[in-house]
Amino acid sequence: MKVLIVGIDGGTYDLIEPWVKRGELPTLGKMMKDGMWGNLITTYPPLTGPAWVSMTTGCNPGKHGVFDFMAPEIGKVRINNASAVKVPKLWEILSENNVRLGFVNVPMTYPPVKVNGYMITGIMSGKGDISYPPTLKTELETAIGRNYKVGIEVPPQKGREEGHIKEIHDWHDSISKSALYVLQKEPLDFFMVVFNITDAASHSYYENMENDDEYGSEILKSYQVVDQSLNEILKFAGPETNTLLVSDHGFGPLRGMININNFLVKRGIIKFRKKARFKNFLFQHGITPKNLYNLMKKLKLAGLARSASQEKRGKVLSSFLGFSDIDMDQTLAYSRGHVGQIHINRQALEKNKLDLLEVREKVIRELFQMKDPHGKVITSQILTREEMYNGPFIDMGPDMFIVLDDYNYIAYPLFAADNKIVTKHIINRSGTHRMNGMFLGRGPYFHDQGRTSDRKITDITPTVLDILGINIPDYMDGKPIK
Ligand SMILES: [Zn+2]
Repeated sequence: MKVLIVGIDGGTYDLIEPWVKRGELPTLGKMMKDGMWGNLITTYPPLTGPAWVSMTTGCNPGKHGVFDFMAPEIGKVRINNASAVKVPKLWEILSENNVRLGFVNVPMTYPPVKVNGYMITGIMSGKGDISYPPTLKTELETAIGRNYKVGIEVPPQKGREEGHIKEIHDWHDSISKSALYVLQKEPLDFFMVVFNITDAASHSYYENMENDDEYGSEILKSYQVVDQSLNEILKFAGPETNTLLVSDHGFGPLRGMININNFLVKRGIIKFRKKARFKNFLFQHGITPKNLYNLMKKLKLAGLARSASQEKRGKVLSSFLGFSDIDMDQTLAYSRGHVGQIHINRQALEKNKLDLLEVREKVIRELFQMKDPHGKVITSQILTREEMYNGPFIDMGPDMFIVLDDYNYIAYPLFAADNKIVTKHIINRSGTHRMNGMFLGRGPYFHDQGRTSDRKITDITPTVLDILGINIPDYMDGKPIK
């Protein structure tokens, strides 16, 4: 094998380094000793979907066109997949160059296409075939004696941790066994697998780790099973193999959620239609979906409320005030997406003959006034579209991205469940993404050793092409890691 890539979703040296020092991750520890490694800076904002697309195209979102898991149309819920990517993907470039390959569980590979080898798609896969050749999925399920899981069905929930932990480990087992199955089929030139258990555990058990409670070691355990799988996969790598470990973003604590649209309503940036103004009046005076939910609980409908799926509950909560209630002729900007993406409303600019940059400056000034209940400014930084992206598709992305208290907060998508600016956890998550992912390179191609300078997520594809002697196209943003 010439190139082997193992993806550790949400993997970060912030956690790996101290654990390696304690001898908790023997395979990773050995690789860090032999190879060169450091932070891999991800795309703005740090999201799994666009990040893996940048990893496998060498391009920033302004060139590949994927800015979020969700497609950009307002009011519609459509999940992006590989067909939204506007530049050639790594599996296409490698297939064209006759590289014999295998891709297992790489995010944003669905729908599978004809490749020179094997592909099993990963998280956010749709309902159709998930493998190439299409028979590969059934073939491997028969061979490994279990089903292939594209995600988890048991959501994280306080008080039901055991079920969720069992589920994420079962998911990992399915990916790990499938990877080993594809690897033993025939000698390949290139192989890539991504493990997601580290991301799932880090989202759910970060606070437990900080508190060192009953579930405090679940994140470490997720890294340990990845370490074991890595050890088994490395048996397929020879001394000629160049191995890369990569992650799509880092991790840190999640302290709560910011209801950016509530703030924009209070500041008059968002205006409601006449019909919705009474609903907004009630909302601002504390008649909120959260209260309605509490009332339901008091009326002993809690059983019913609990049995409704998370998705349904989310819909009930957010339908109280939604985008359909907004007066798009008068609303200057709104937040859409769950980490702090801000869109300037072109319809209102045209209607009122306003200048985009002037409106943007005004919204930026307002957003730096957003404070928590203690008076602390929540907005750490605002990045504009042209600071984050370049390329023909930048118009598809948000106009701005707000870094919420150094990434300690995420945003409530659409409208919040209450009328406050800051909401404590309303979802069962206590960890969230950071900009610093990780990379490690080991093998004859990598001359450096030990900790090295930060690299970019767009550097991975150019590195792979350079190792394989394939020309690096000019349009790619990254450059080889050496
Ligand atoms: Zn991720």
